[in-house]
Amino acid sequence: MAGSQHLSADVLVVGAGGAGMYAALEAARRGAAVILADRSLIGRGGATVMAQMTVAVGLDDDGLDHWEHHYADTLKAGRGLCDPALAQLLCEEGPARIREMDAWGVGWARENGKVKRAFAPGHDRARCVYVDFLNTGPAVSKTLRARLNATPEIRRVGDLHVTSLAVQHGQCVGAVALHVPTGDVVSISSRATIVATGGLTRLYQRNSASLNMAGDGYALALAAGAELVDMEFVQFFPIGHLAPRLIGMDPIMWDPFRYKLGGRLLNGAREEFIHKYGGVDEGRYVTTRDLVTYAIVKEVAAGRGSPHGGAWLSFEHCSEEALRAAAGPVIDRLAANGIDLTRQAIEVAPIAHYHMGGVKADVRMATRVSGLFAAGDAVGGANGANRLSGNAITEALVFGARAGESAARFSNNEKAKADPSAFSVQTRALASGAPCGFNPAAGIEALQATMQLDVGPFRTEASLKRALERIADLRREAAPAKPPAGRPFDTALLDWLDLDTMTRVGEIVARTALARTESRGAHQREDFPGLDEERWHRNQVVTP
Ligand SMILES: Cc1cc2nc3c(=O)[nH]c(=O)nc-3n(C[C@H](O)[C@H](O)[C@H](O)COP(=O)(O)OP(=O)(O)OC[C@H]3O[C@@H](n4cnc5c(N)ncnc54)[C@H](O)[C@@H]3O)c2cc1C
Repeated sequence: MAGSQHLSADVLVVGAGGAGMYAALEAARRGAAVILADRSLIGRGGATVMAQMTVAVGLDDDGLDHWEHHYADTLKAGRGLCDPALAQLLCEEGPARIREMDAWGVGWARENGKVKRAFAPGHDRARCVYVDFLNTGPAVSKTLRARLNATPEIRRVGDLHVTSLAVQHGQCVGAVALHVPTGDVVSISSRATIVATGGLTRLYQRNSASLNMAGDGYALALAAGAELVDMEFVQFFPIGHLAPRLIGMDPIMWDPFRYKLGGRLLNGAREEFIHKYGGVDEGRYVTTRDLVTYAIVKEVAAGRGSPHGGAWLSFEHCSEEALRAAAGPVIDRLAANGIDLTRQAIEVAPIAHYHMGGVKADVRMATRVSGLFAAGDAVGGANGANRLSGNAITEALVFGARAGESAARFSNNEKAKADPSAFSVQTRALASGAPCGFNPAAGIEALQATMQLDVGPFRTEASLKRALERIADLRREAAPAKPPAGRPFDTALLDWLDLDTMTRVGEIVARTALARTESRGAHQREDFPGLDEERWHRNQVVTP
């Protein structure tokens, strides 16, 4: 039988990536007692620590850029669907967050004393700051972890998997969670709660995600009464590694190579092809991600793919010196994998990488549920139908800081806090269950295959309806098979919880994709090519 524990805080932050850590720091700076909970290790789970290269920001110290230029590019990339207020917040406050991180010692790369900026696709000028080759996300996470260590007002609780939010009289009063190492059921009462749980790309078979990016925050917030927005827009990263086998390296590691060296993207016949789809490539890296994804998938579908079903990416025209100057020690790691870029092209193909949609929040990061806030990837709307590269970390830091500020203010004005009885229905639900023969891990694999095949970068009415049927079947099969809490490190229960969340969220992505009968940004309908401005120049909002 599951043990139980109760915790209490002014502000509960769920998720300790860049957004959650920044939110916790900001709330503590404003005097709140904070619990920062994560289903993984604090500051080491999720996407932030995996992010490799760049952070987009309109720094204006040298007169070369301004947040308004960044804002214009963000709106353009969003294909008319960005929430202008959120996009403005991201761009306008980006410089302050980047400077604050600088003061905290993140170590942005510099040239002649100035923060260095690189070009990235979709930006009208060099705008992307970075730390070092493949090291930006780890440096951001480490800097925030160091600040957390120096902030005793923040209680950090790792291995705490939040399974539901508690709502009383229309107000979010905390959460219920599974303590993974003990199997205990934990209730947490808080005056304000921030969902900073990251994205959903683990829903897909080919993804750049870590295990804890299953869309938890969307399911938690929706069940608590919040709205979701833009859920149909899943961004596929066009040049995820496909072949040959690559061990111990990130599947999206080719992006920095392309920023620095261009690289030639070729079809199976070794011909350049991006221009056929309206892009410009020719060894430069300027075409936006949605268009490159489209071009690769179309070439493969036309029988012009590389042997494993993607495209060739070739740096064979680059000298070893140029490669080493651009990639440094990464060249040795590639050599250990038997890859010599001067002699061979590698194969790449689109992988699910980012989700533009999420919890609907205003510029205070407040949802429509009193006391419930969101931050980072968990928030939808700022990036519209397509995200500019580098915008996601900026979004995490800016929205995190804003959510922390708003939650601290809210908690200051709230006197009462819920007692443990407010959580009894949810704690009982988590504790109870009946083991049976159902295998939730196999269920997750089935869901991921369905999402990849039928709700991937290219969708049709038939594929989306097929996906919805399969997801409904999976939910039916899984429903009676929930294992009870109470066992330490119960992977069957964790898989069941993930499958439950992933099928809920997958169903929403498929349903909103089916409704949007046009092609826009990251949402491409084969049966409805092109924009339908008259009917679809609008966001879809999902209500509970
Ligand atoms: C491989 C990779 C490379 C990337 N490169 C870049 C880049 O160069 N530039 C850029 O701008 N963006 C990049 N991104 C995107 C960017 O990293 C993310 O969008 C951003 O870091 C998200 O921050 P976050 O704090 O919102 O979420 P995350 O960093 O994902 O953190 C979410 C946290 O929530 C926790 N969590 C989830 N569910 C629960 C739950 N139920 N209970 C408790 N805790 C929970 C997770 O364990 C995790 O620690 C990259 C992403 C990936 C995957």
